[in-house]
Amino acid sequence: MTVKINLYGEELNTYKANFHMHSTVSDGKLPLQDTVNLYRAEGYDILAATDHRIANRVSEIDTGDLMLMSGMEFHPLGPRGIRWHFIALNVPEDFPNPSDLPCHEAIEAVRKAGGESIVAHPYWNGFTSNDIMQVKNLIAIEVYNTDTRYIGKGCSVQTWDELLNMGYHLPGIAVDDTHRPRDFFGGWTMVCAKEKTPRAAMNALKNGAVYASQGPDFHKISFENNIFSVECSPCEEIIVMSNGSFGRCGNMSGFEATTPEARYKTTEMSSFETEIPHPTNLTYLRCQIKDKAGNYAWSSPIKID
Ligand SMILES: [Zn+2]
Ligand SMILES: [Zn+2]
Repeated sequence: MTVKINLYGEELNTYKANFHMHSTVSDGKLPLQDTVNLYRAEGYDILAATDHRIANRVSEIDTGDLMLMSGMEFHPLGPRGIRWHFIALNVPEDFPNPSDLPCHEAIEAVRKAGGESIVAHPYWNGFTSNDIMQVKNLIAIEVYNTDTRYIGKGCSVQTWDELLNMGYHLPGIAVDDTHRPRDFFGGWTMVCAKEKTPRAAMNALKNGAVYASQGPDFHKISFENNIFSVECSPCEEIIVMSNGSFGRCGNMSGFEATTPEARYKTTEMSSFETEIPHPTNLTYLRCQIKDKAGNYAWSSPIKID
C-alpha cells in the first residue's frame, strides 16, 4: 500500500528509497542481486546502485517491483588533498568514471549525461560547509549515512544547516551507504511524487519533495499565512528551525517541566503548528522530529521570503 503525504497542499505518494549502496562490483560484501533482494523484501520502492568509480549495469538485474536506478560514487580531488565522495544518480550504465577530472568538470560531466550529484557524508570525510559552498550544482546533501555511524560521524545535520544559513538551499537525504550486513535499513529517503519513475524521483530530489528518516514519518507539511504546520507519526520531539538561533519547539521530552525530576518525562505528539514572524529575515524553515526510540526524520527545507 502506498502511503500518502500532503506536502504544501499537494497530495503525493511516498516511495521509500535508498540512494547509496555498494556491491561486489566495488567494495561491497554482497552481490548486487542479493542486495536488491534484501531491499525489496524490506519493502523499499527505489534503490540506486552506486558503486565506487563504476556505473552499475542495473538493467541486467531482476528487480521485481523495486525500481533500480543507475548511479556511481565518484571521487574528484577536493581541498587539502582529500577526495570528494559524490553520488551521481541517474547516469547511463556506460557512464565513464569522472573522478580524475577537476571537481566542477566531473559534476558537469554527470549533468551532461543526464544525471545529478549529491554530496555524500561530508562529516565523515572531513569536508566543511565552506568547502561544499565552492561546489556548484549539487542537488542534495546526505544528512544521515548509516555506514559512517560506526566511527560516530553518520550525521551531517550541522553542515546542512550551515549551508542553508549561507544560502545553499539543498534537501537533506538519509542513506545506508550499504557495504555489509550491518548497514542495511538504518536511514532512508521518502520520495514524495505522483509516480514511481526515475524522472519523478530526480524531480522530487531537485524540488525538495523528499524527507530523510531513520523511522518517523511526515504525513502533512504546510506553510500558509505565516503558519508552519506539520502532522507526523507519534514523536516525542518536534522542532521547526531556521537560520541562526531561530527555532520553535513543539514538543520535547520534559520541555514543559516544572521540576527537575520532570525533565525526562516523555510525551508524544503527532502534530504541531507555529506562527513565523512576518516580515522576517529568515530564509528557510525545516522540521525535524524524533520518535520514542530515538530515531529522527528531517523534512526538506522550504525557502521563505
Ligand atoms: Zn563514500
Ligand atoms: Zn559509498
